[in-house]
Amino acid sequence: MILKFSKRLIIFIFLLPNAACVDMLVDEQIDNNWKSQQRGSIIVFYNPLWDSPYSSKKEIIDTILINQNYYYNCIQDSIHRKFRNTVAVYLYSNEDGKTKIGTSDGGYANPDRFTYYYSVSFTKSDLLVLGRKDYVGAHELAHVITFNCLGVPGSRLFSEGYANWLDNTYAEKYLFDWMKFWGFSRILTLQQLIEGTSEEKIYYPNSGTFIKFLVSKYGIEKANSLFTINNKDLTEAFKKTLGKDADQLQAEYNNYCVLNFNQ
Ligand SMILES: [Zn+2]
Repeated sequence: MILKFSKRLIIFIFLLPNAACVDMLVDEQIDNNWKSQQRGSIIVFYNPLWDSPYSSKKEIIDTILINQNYYYNCIQDSIHRKFRNTVAVYLYSNEDGKTKIGTSDGGYANPDRFTYYYSVSFTKSDLLVLGRKDYVGAHELAHVITFNCLGVPGSRLFSEGYANWLDNTYAEKYLFDWMKFWGFSRILTLQQLIEGTSEEKIYYPNSGTFIKFLVSKYGIEKANSLFTINNKDLTEAFKKTLGKDADQLQAEYNNYCVLNFNQ
C-alpha cells in the first residue's frame, strides 16, 4: 500500500553531505527533566516547561502521538516489512532545538537507538493528518524504520529518497508540487541522483520522486533490494535488478516526469 497521508508537514533537515539526517550524536541526558507520554508504538519525551502560545501542550503531544502511530503503520505497509520496536521521539522547542540538535525546524534520526529528535514548529503549517495538525511529519520516523528493516543505506539516493517518498512532502509542499515548481531544468538526471551532491531543497523532492517512480514501476521488493547498495555500484545494480541499463532507465524516468509534471 502506498502511503496516503492526507496532508503533511514541513521537514527541514540538517544534512551532512551523503550522510543524511541520521546518526547525529545527541546527549539527551543533559536535559534531566524530560517527561514522557506513550501511545501505541511511540513514546514522546518533552520538557515540562516547554509550551506553545498556539495550542495546549496536551493537545500537541496527543496529536503527535496519534499522527506518529499512523505513520508507523503506513511506513511498514509501504515497504512491506514488519517493525515491532517502540520509537522514542525527543521534542525540542524551536529555541532549544537550535542549540541542542542544531536545527530549530527539523530533526535527526538515530536508528540504532530507535530514536529521533525534532524541533517542533508550531506556526509553519496548517497541513493535517487524520484531521489533526501535523507538527512532526514522517521523514525521521521513516529513517528509523527503513534502516532497521532494510539495512544501512549505501547511498543518499536511497536513504533520503525513501524518507522523502514515504513522507511525500518537503517543506510544506507535496513532492510533485515541488517538482512542478522547480520545472524540468531542476529535474536531476540518474547520474546526479546517484552522485547525491545537489543541495537539499533540490535533492529531497527529486530523490523522493525517483523512489516513487522506482516503486510504482518495479515494485517495492526490487526497490528494497537496492537500499544498501553503494553509490558506485548502483548503476550496475540497476541493470542487474531491473534489467535496464542507465540510458533505458533514464528514458523511463524522463517519461514518468513528463507524464506527471508536464503542466
Ligand atoms: Zn533525512
